[in-house]
Amino acid sequence: MILKILKRVNRYLPEDFRLRLLPYYRRILPGLNNVIFIPQLKCNYNCAYCIWNRFTPDGFKDSFHHFTDWVRIFQTFPPSAVIITGGEPLLYRDIVPLIENFPDKHVISCLVTNLSVNIDKLISLKKKEFRIMASFHPYTATKEAFMQGLISLKAAGFKNITVNFVAYPEYLKDIPVLKKFFEQEKGLYFRTDTFKDPDYKYSGQELELIREYKKKGFIAPDRTEGYSFEDFSAKACRAGKNLFIIIANGNVYSCMEGYYYSECKPYKDKYNKIDKFYLGNVFDGSFNASEKNRVCHSPCAELCDLELAGVRRISVSS
Ligand code: SF4
Repeated sequence: MILKILKRVNRYLPEDFRLRLLPYYRRILPGLNNVIFIPQLKCNYNCAYCIWNRFTPDGFKDSFHHFTDWVRIFQTFPPSAVIITGGEPLLYRDIVPLIENFPDKHVISCLVTNLSVNIDKLISLKKKEFRIMASFHPYTATKEAFMQGLISLKAAGFKNITVNFVAYPEYLKDIPVLKKFFEQEKGLYFRTDTFKDPDYKYSGQELELIREYKKKGFIAPDRTEGYSFEDFSAKACRAGKNLFIIIANGNVYSCMEGYYYSECKPYKDKYNKIDKFYLGNVFDGSFNASEKNRVCHSPCAELCDLELAGVRRISVSS
């Protein structure tokens, strides 16, 4: 029943409204499973701010499993809301049969794409009830050309499309103009995520601008500001029990940050070693979900993790 409602929510709920509900996600849906699924780790772009592309081990990027393998694996998972992302998922050879044959007990809630290749594959799909998160990278396309792709998706029947943008320092000044430009098209929402990097911190001036944008509504308020890479406080969290990151080679991690900490070099010395994020591999039979919520002692700054895992600081009484 809940998944049926989610299907409708995904098809019609505007992104600005969804972002306002996001901090209450785990209060509304405490037991729902969420999977962030990355069937393909390669990307045709090389964005300066992309953690996945910069830090994923090269060996992982060549991993490929046929869609029938993934359908079989997902048949064994409890009903879940699944985000398909990458890498660039439209480079995954089997993306169309994967989506068309995805087990009905799950909801594909969203597909994240840079919209630069194989849009025709998306357009050809019969299943179109998921949200499209189209990531705009200004160094790769003009806003006008990108808009054309969005309009063709709308015309093909996708009802819920968001333009995703990273507040990379050199693009900060462009945010108001881009928001106005993309939102002139009825039904499009322009969403901005803050830039995350293990070795970079926004300057005071940049932070001030971001706060101003939040006040003016150019950037949706979120909880990430309260959670930094210096924060080793204890946090209660559902990652590994209700949230899973599954990557192209079948490895499963509890959360996005958990993948970075486990596999990405600049992150490997930045977490508390009592925390374990790798949960095994779905193809070799070693995968085990956690039975209980966990207490994590590592920094947690990813919006997806914070909300999908329902991360909350545990107050320590003195
Ligand atoms: S608190 Fe954050 S980093 Fe730690 S396990 Fe939960 S989601 Fe992952």
